[in-house]
Amino acid sequence: MSKYNYDLFIIGNGSGGSRAGRIATKYGAKVAFAECRHYGGTCVNLGCVPKKLMTYAASYASHIEDAKGFGWDIGKSSHNWQRFIDAKNKEVDRLSNLFKQGIESRGNDAYWGKATITGPHSVSVDGKEITAERILIATGGKPFIPDIPGAREYGITSDDIFYLQERPQRLVIAGVGYIGLEFAGIFNQLGSDVHMIYRRDRILNPDFDDDVRSFLHDEMKKKGVNFYPHTTIKSVKKNGNEIDVALSDGRLIRADKILFATGRAPNIDSLGLDKVGVELTDKGAVKVNRDKQTSVPSIYAIGDVIGHIALTPVAIKEGQALTERIYGGKENYVCYDNLPHAVFSTPPIGQVGLTENQAKAKYPENIDVYISKFRAMKFTLAGRDEYTLVKLIVNRENDKVLGLHMVGQDAPEIVQGFATAMVAGATKADFDSTIAIHPTSAEEFVTLQEKK
Ligand code: FAD
Repeated sequence: MSKYNYDLFIIGNGSGGSRAGRIATKYGAKVAFAECRHYGGTCVNLGCVPKKLMTYAASYASHIEDAKGFGWDIGKSSHNWQRFIDAKNKEVDRLSNLFKQGIESRGNDAYWGKATITGPHSVSVDGKEITAERILIATGGKPFIPDIPGAREYGITSDDIFYLQERPQRLVIAGVGYIGLEFAGIFNQLGSDVHMIYRRDRILNPDFDDDVRSFLHDEMKKKGVNFYPHTTIKSVKKNGNEIDVALSDGRLIRADKILFATGRAPNIDSLGLDKVGVELTDKGAVKVNRDKQTSVPSIYAIGDVIGHIALTPVAIKEGQALTERIYGGKENYVCYDNLPHAVFSTPPIGQVGLTENQAKAKYPENIDVYISKFRAMKFTLAGRDEYTLVKLIVNRENDKVLGLHMVGQDAPEIVQGFATAMVAGATKADFDSTIAIHPTSAEEFVTLQEKK
């Protein structure tokens, strides 16, 4: 008999925590969860899933326009925001319920409420003291709003935008990271007037290739998104039902909503980490070693809360690798190389491996860059003024493909397949000897000849 209530107590039933619980249970561990907000975590409730559903909703606007070029007569069309939000909420609830049912069907216990860690082997949830041999912090992240006058009072975050009663006709977005850009594309397509304010000179961060960053900027600008580089927000003021956003250059934008997509912070409030001696990084994330163990050996952490790579599949892999090591005796560590990821902007981005700058820094004087920009066949008859970018970065010494980037329709779907080739160590010669699937946009990757 164990001297603890559980072998593993997981705080947070999001992407990482739920996978860790499933695997630990499979290997016979006695597992319990604490969850204080929603089963399934950010991805299901306030992240990837509702965002992707919104992306689909918005994309019909251009599909309807495109269809005319192919001979379709389409009558007057309009979008019913509330009907979409209701349908989206139903789907999110269905998925969240599946996570809850998963806990029950596996025979795990669930404690509803905010968990606080009270010792190396003890947790308190809603006044109940629970003990466990190991504790896993999988509490994710939360949106961050900067300290600007009026921002926290009148601004909204990505958490709120999924539940707006009405679609804002004029939307200001602070921040040009992937979340801000995704919402810019969504609301622009739905017919809103979108203004993006950012301090830097370019959109996205340097983890994205510079060609990708400027290409996406230009494509979004063509679609009518307004960009304000080198600009900060001085204040946000309420003006009746409207909002006045004062900019650093003296301009004022009157809007219906302002979305702060200004980053996310690790979700550690109320965990009581300082009292048990769990150390944090200088950015306030939970500090872990290679084994995802914190400074308290019986306490582990995975996913967004460790402040490394905030993506659902990464949190899932970390949860799986950790529990397979502890309970399955497997030497499973997450490999973060050749990590594919996407931005569901309009047009979307798919990328895997190094950017040109990262490749140059790692292999100075030794890389070849292949690039192509073209108009996809679908857009010719449609008359859509949208272009596609594909780019390969190759190590000249051994011909290995170091980075693969795409901006254009279906980029995330296309790049997922190429990511496997990259993980398997594909060379440019492998790409060249692959027969193209014609006519597609993806075939450009296996026919690229033009060096940059
Ligand atoms: P989470 O999924 O955030 O789960 C943490 C859980 O812990 C939550 O349910 C929370 O309620 C709970 N919790 C927190 N504190 C406590 C406590 N003290 N006690 C009890 N429970 C607690 N990633 C992608 O890969 N693709 C995308 O397209 C994508 N889009 C996104 C769009 C948006 C708008 C956002 C915000 C995120 C997006 N992400 C996307 C990121 C992705 O959602 C996260 O990386 C992922 O959910 C992290 O999983 P996690 O397990 O670390 O934490």
